Amino acid sequence: MEKILEVKNISKKYQSKEGEILALKNITFKVEKGEFVSIIGPSGCGKSTLLSIIAGLEDKTSGEIYIEGEKVEGISPKVGYMLQRDCLLEWRNILSNTMFGLDIKRNKNKETKAYVEELLKKYDLYDFKDKYPSELSGGMRQRAALIRTLAVKPKILLLDEAFSALDYQTRIMVTNDIYNILREEHITTIMVTHDISEAISMSDRVIVLNARPGSVKDIHKIEFNIENRNPLNCRESPKFSQYFNTLWKELGVDE
Ligand code: ADP
Ligand code: MG
Repeated sequence: MEKILEVKNISKKYQSKEGEILALKNITFKVEKGEFVSIIGPSGCGKSTLLSIIAGLEDKTSGEIYIEGEKVEGISPKVGYMLQRDCLLEWRNILSNTMFGLDIKRNKNKETKAYVEELLKKYDLYDFKDKYPSELSGGMRQRAALIRTLAVKPKILLLDEAFSALDYQTRIMVTNDIYNILREEHITTIMVTHDISEAISMSDRVIVLNARPGSVKDIHKIEFNIENRNPLNCRESPKFSQYFNTLWKELGVDE
């Protein structure tokens, strides 16, 4: 397998009024091309900080990030980022929203526009391209936000609690949809979540972080051996509850 991301000995200190906060300590792991990796850990353990550092949005105190063997210095154009808020612009219609990244990168041309339209068609949003975000369901909005992110062809997608604003039923369906899109498009994904079930049902590996300062506690390989694996059929597998119990215990110890 081909390695796409290398996180090497990352530490991060924040300065605050009370003094220095060590948020991350010696984080090291690698991600292979096409892999889906989740990061879980107690609230405040530095998950969002770690994603921001991988994206080059936040400075690190020490360590290095490599994407496709290139050191990340500053904001990385190879990374796509999705947050809990879908950040769609209410005054732009869906087509225009999904083209937004291309506008910013001044990369709107026949080819890139055709790619966005292809994604909209493939993932059932083309009929809604002239609608505004407020006219779409939460699930459709997330799908539109994903297409906007994929439009610029990131090498790695980062998801930070991207589904946690959705109600339970919607979240189950949306994570399934998004998972299928990411697999179909062969997108390498790193997802931060506090939802153990979400992590197990979507991931090839789950990285568990210790409470502050965040450090790697354990890395679990998740294997279901299900043909056409997806989050829904994983949730029904007997192995699911085994993984759940293991991770639940591991997270519980520190809380
Ligand atoms: P998580 O996403 O796991 O909940 P964060 O990465 O948001 O955790 O935060 C990790 C720690 O770093 C927390 O203790 C938080 O208070 C602190 N922190 C995050 N951002 C800043 C900042 N800009 N300045 C100071 N401290 C921060
Ligand atoms: Mg966070």
